[in-house]
Amino acid sequence: MPIRLHDSLTRQLRELRPSHPDGVFRFYNCGPTVYAAAHIGNFRTFVVNDVLRRLLELEFGPDKVKHVRNLTDVDDKTIKRARDEGRPLAEVTKQWTDKFHADCAALNCLPPHAEPRATDPRYMREQVSMIECLMEKGNAYRAADGSVYFKVSSFPGYGALSRVKERELQIGSALAGKPPAADADEKEDGSDFALWKAWKPDDGTNKWSGPRGAAEGRPGWHIECSAMSKALLGETIDLHTGGVDLLFPHHENEIAQSECCNGQPFARHWYHSEHLLVDGKKMSKSLGNLYTLDELTAKGFSPMAVRYALLAGHPRKQLNFTLDSLHAAESALASLRAHRASLAAAGAAHDAFAPALASLQDDLNTPGALGALFTIANRKEGEPDAASFDRVMFGLGLDLHQPAASQTAVPTEISALAEKRWAAKAAKDFAAADALRKELTAAGWAMLDGKDGYKLESLKK
Ligand code: AMP
Ligand code: ZN
Repeated sequence: MPIRLHDSLTRQLRELRPSHPDGVFRFYNCGPTVYAAAHIGNFRTFVVNDVLRRLLELEFGPDKVKHVRNLTDVDDKTIKRARDEGRPLAEVTKQWTDKFHADCAALNCLPPHAEPRATDPRYMREQVSMIECLMEKGNAYRAADGSVYFKVSSFPGYGALSRVKERELQIGSALAGKPPAADADEKEDGSDFALWKAWKPDDGTNKWSGPRGAAEGRPGWHIECSAMSKALLGETIDLHTGGVDLLFPHHENEIAQSECCNGQPFARHWYHSEHLLVDGKKMSKSLGNLYTLDELTAKGFSPMAVRYALLAGHPRKQLNFTLDSLHAAESALASLRAHRASLAAAGAAHDAFAPALASLQDDLNTPGALGALFTIANRKEGEPDAASFDRVMFGLGLDLHQPAASQTAVPTEISALAEKRWAAKAAKDFAAADALRKELTAAGWAMLDGKDGYKLESLKK
């Protein structure tokens, strides 16, 4: 069954297919701005995109998917953070990039095949040359201060993705009475947007040499995705994704930049997932109503329960986050672990859990897939089928081996011993496994072996 996914441009469910003759599906997902820990709202978007990546691999084969996700490591927020802390920009963004990677790994998100950074000299060059291309073609102009702007009126297709004409009224009324934007004087038209921002004193030492004729400065945010996706995936990509807030202006601007420079359609399919809310409001750094993964694991929840809770709502509907949803997720995971342990190892011929996978393939219906999974598991008729169950777990990215919540308090040296013993047992080195068990017991921990994993229990009650 092919994967069908809502396309924000045509507003229809459309089949996902690679368009390139090499059969590789080209997938670009806008990544994080690395100036603080990503919150679990951000991770809702990244986890949903991870399910998409996994489904694409199941559909086309692991070597027939190329997934790119960028890191925005220069913008107003990253520069402000570095300035406030009196640290070099690169040091601050490295710290939060490492943290982002650690959280992604804990949430069992597959790493993208390429993760370009905006300040990487290679991609700085790509951005500059794309801006030069737009200036040469008459789609961009240099302002008095040496910044470069995209001329929105030069691209007749502008607004097709976000139906910006319908939005203009709302935007106009939202702006009424507010002071004009800081760069209003520089632009020929209010809707034009920055491709290159001339250096300002607030930028400190953070400046790069710009497009021909422009001042030293830094790229505008939108250009990085256009330049990186072209450099890594080519002029036309198969799928471009992000959270709904990126639809306008970010993705609208990406389309304008890419299509004007390349003269080719940019993305064949657009997908936007909805926000995670807290008390009815978008979880966001600016509202301060956020949870990070660390805050939730400190409360004793496992990262896998966080992943489960983020997938429990339909990705195209807003989801209200509650701690109760994490309690429910922990017990759902415990049932799935128990069910997995009861399944026959070698798969029976029939694909018992296919309906759960079919839900994922039908517009990424994650709650539908979880529902189908439990319905089939509870039926207890027909031949149980581990291979089919594991395929759905792979698609959802639910790692049932990850320790359950109660185990998150296990000291790292104890979990390292346990891992070593589990590996020794798998390698049938029973003498080593027994010796390691004795070490664990002496340290006050019992290791309870299951079929597909183990549990650690403290002996000091
Ligand atoms: P940022 O680091 O702000 O560039 O955001 C990274 C990603 O997280 C983008 O795709 C955003 O659309 C997404 N995002 C931001 N806030 C939320 C939220 N509350 N729920 C879901 N996704 C979000
Ligand atoms: Zn982007």
